[in-house]
Amino acid sequence: MRKGTLYVFTGPSGAGKGTVLGRLREQDDRLFYSISATTRAPRPGETDGVQYYFLTKADFEQRIAQGAFLEHARYVDNYYGTLEAPVDEKLAAGYDVILEIEVQGAMQVHKKRPDAVMVFIAPPSFEELAARLRGRGTESEEKIQKRLETAREELTHQGEFDYVIVNDEVERAVDEIRGILAARRA
Ligand code: 5GP
Repeated sequence: MRKGTLYVFTGPSGAGKGTVLGRLREQDDRLFYSISATTRAPRPGETDGVQYYFLTKADFEQRIAQGAFLEHARYVDNYYGTLEAPVDEKLAAGYDVILEIEVQGAMQVHKKRPDAVMVFIAPPSFEELAARLRGRGTESEEKIQKRLETAREELTHQGEFDYVIVNDEVERAVDEIRGILAARRA
C-alpha cells in the first residue's frame, strides 16, 4: 500500500489556518488531522481529545523527556506539540496526515522529515490579522499583543516554505490547497 504524505500547515495565529483546514476536512476523507497536545487552557466549547489533548505542564514535560513528540514548541507562555506515534501509524495506513502548527515546530518537522510538504498560510495584511484576532474575542488584549508580536516574527519565515497561500478569501485558499494535494497525489 502507498504510504501517506505528511503536510505541515503553518502561519500566524489569526491567518485562518483552522477555518481553511476545516473546510478542506469536510471534503476529503483520505486526510487525518493530527490532534496536538497543549498546556493552554481549553477555550469555551473545546473538548479534551477533540481540538487538543489538554495536558498539565508536568505531563507535557514528561512526554518531552520520553521523546514522544515529533516536534514541540513554546508559544505565548504555553507548550504545544505533535505526538509522533499516531502520525506514523496513519501515514503507514496510507492516510495523508495534516499538522496545523506554529512556525518553530514546522521548521523542526522540516528537518526531521525532509519529505513533508510545507505550506504557509498568510493573512492578506498585518492589519487584517490584528482585526481577526481581536474579532475572535477569546483572548485578553495582553495575549493578543503577544500573538501579534509572534506573528511579526513568523511572517519573516514565509520564504522557507514550499507553498505560500494568502488567505484573503477562504474558498479560494481551500481551492489552492486542494490543488496542492491533487498534484502530490497524481
Ligand atoms: P491556539 O492557542 O490558537 O489553539 O494555537 C496557538 C498556535 O499554536 C497556533 O499557531 C497553532 O497552529 C499552534 N499549534 C497548535 N498545535 C501545535 C503543535 O502541536 N505544535 C506546534 N508547534 N504548534 C501548534
